[in-house]
Amino acid sequence: MAKDYYGILGVSREASDDEIKRAYRKLARQYHPDVNPDPEAHEKFKDINAAYEVLSDDRKRQIVDLGGDPLAPGGGGAGGGAGAGPFVGFQDIMDAFFGAAGGTRGPRPRTRPGADAILRLELDLVETAFGVEAPITVDTAVLCTTCSGAGTAAGTHLATCEACGGRGEVQSVQRTFLGQVVSARPCTACQGYGTVIPHPCGTCAGEGRVRTRRSLTVKIPAGVEDGMRIRLAQQGEVGPGGGTPGDLYVEIHERVHDVYSRKGDDLHCRVTVPMTAAALGTRLTIKTLDSEEPVDVKAGTQPGSTMRLRARGVPHLRGTGRGDLYVHLDVRTPTKLDVEQERMLRDFAKTRGEEVAELSKQGGFFSRMRDAFNGHG
Ligand code: ZN
Repeated sequence: MAKDYYGILGVSREASDDEIKRAYRKLARQYHPDVNPDPEAHEKFKDINAAYEVLSDDRKRQIVDLGGDPLAPGGGGAGGGAGAGPFVGFQDIMDAFFGAAGGTRGPRPRTRPGADAILRLELDLVETAFGVEAPITVDTAVLCTTCSGAGTAAGTHLATCEACGGRGEVQSVQRTFLGQVVSARPCTACQGYGTVIPHPCGTCAGEGRVRTRRSLTVKIPAGVEDGMRIRLAQQGEVGPGGGTPGDLYVEIHERVHDVYSRKGDDLHCRVTVPMTAAALGTRLTIKTLDSEEPVDVKAGTQPGSTMRLRARGVPHLRGTGRGDLYVHLDVRTPTKLDVEQERMLRDFAKTRGEEVAELSKQGGFFSRMRDAFNGHG
């Protein structure tokens, strides 16, 4: 019967490496013989270490998952890798009590990748719809051409840091209940690089990069939308020590158009037609983003009607084709009729059997109704 290594650490069979490490650290702190004198704790601690040894090793964990026991004699521990003994690894125990040493192992590189940058670009609807080549300027860091990123003055070189001997870290010894503990922290003399620059480049002061304003042209494809980001690979800032540049993201901001509103790739606009035109029908010329289209308004068109002009919207960013243009019709009722126009409209109403009560200068329709009820009709 194989040992239940997952059960010993109290983790599920799907536990990630991180969960296993955390469970191990928690239990190790609890059952370490130096903090827990109980003899049972000692046995438990051995089990915990064995479980961690097995589950933190992909190959051994696989054997467990297949029902074997990599620590049992002949239990499938092929390769004879079993057995650092009761201690899994000194560093793992140290980490359990003092936390992981966080990147203080060895000197850190002087050359590091550069950061990404983002730039906001305002465009008109016509530009987002049909694409544009937009000039942009970015404030960024570029490679120092004087030293080509090395950070050293011409003819000079980096020197090994004398304070840490090039290790980038200095060690100190503490006495603890576990005995002597050696801990490391980054060397302050070289900021952890392990090297110093005795004669920095005069242009970049040893940074390997300089700040500058750069102009370039972004090709904006047709059909982009507000909020979209276009990635320009390696156009971000150069890293310290001349490291690989980050990416530049250009974020599109579409200006509000005074005629068209945009919903996805469809456009909407409003057109006002006189009541008579809506009643009789007419032909309008609609200005689209890139053309003029004759559009027939059918006789008897109602206020709020919508006409759709297919493929007169914004071109699709992916694939072919375009969105549609929706024309919303506002029917305008005539105002300020002169005497003749009013008479004709009343005659027209009469021919249609649409009684139109006349508004009086004194009171209007409702006061006339009230008068009728009061017997003054
Ligand atoms: Zn330089």
